[in-house]
Amino acid sequence: MVKKQTTILNPRNISDILDSDTSSLGVRSADIEAIILSHAHFDHVGDPSTFPPSTNLVVGPGIRDSHWPGYPINPAAINLDSDIQGRHVREITFDKTEMGAVTIGSFDALDYFGDGSFYLLNCPGHSVGHICALARVTVSPDSFVFMGGDSCHHPGVLRPTKYLPCPSQSCHSRLSDRSCESKSESVFTLSPVLTSDYDTALKTVDNIKELDASDDVFVILAHDSTLRGNVDFYPSTINDWKAKGYDMNTRWLFCKELENAQESSK
Ligand SMILES: [Zn+2]
Ligand SMILES: [Zn+2]
Repeated sequence: MVKKQTTILNPRNISDILDSDTSSLGVRSADIEAIILSHAHFDHVGDPSTFPPSTNLVVGPGIRDSHWPGYPINPAAINLDSDIQGRHVREITFDKTEMGAVTIGSFDALDYFGDGSFYLLNCPGHSVGHICALARVTVSPDSFVFMGGDSCHHPGVLRPTKYLPCPSQSCHSRLSDRSCESKSESVFTLSPVLTSDYDTALKTVDNIKELDASDDVFVILAHDSTLRGNVDFYPSTINDWKAKGYDMNTRWLFCKELENAQESSK
């Protein structure tokens, strides 16, 4: 069933994409210090075995023992054992005593490089050990990209909020069964179907809403289809997302998509 409903847009290995890239970035698979998994679901893992053994695998709390040993050592496993064979697996604990432990907004976090350029954030709920990342892409003024993984699967779960009300010109009240005063309530409520711990997942979403309201943070959800065609993808960079207006241009696109879907279903 999963195979029938899943479309893989780019069937190439990440390592192949890096090694055949002809852009000026010049990043090769051998340069990659670590692969960071937001979580270990099949659509987020890729094939780590195509990277050299020098590339570490970084995962969130509890992932290592709940997903490996993998197949075929454990025939019931959903991950391959080759993902970790011959590779150092670093499991982030988010313990306050862990080197680099910090707090970002309402998140327990880890300052990955120790220089404030890249943070891992504890975002459980969708699955055991689900983590997100926050990259500082400019300084003076600071701006960030938040990589939300599968914390939720639709931007309408995050928006609007009391911090980020729906702008009147894209009022979505008719998109949901909520009243028009609900311009500060998200269009959708997180579905419990896609969580391993619903209450924790709701708390994670609430924490992300705080970041999402900042004009200095561009929030990306892994499955947000409204970003496709509206932001640049690798090998382009999005360090200048603010200058390009990505947040302003994409934040409420989902309302338009929902309106169009409603129109076409009439
Ligand atoms: Zn997932
Ligand atoms: Zn996913």
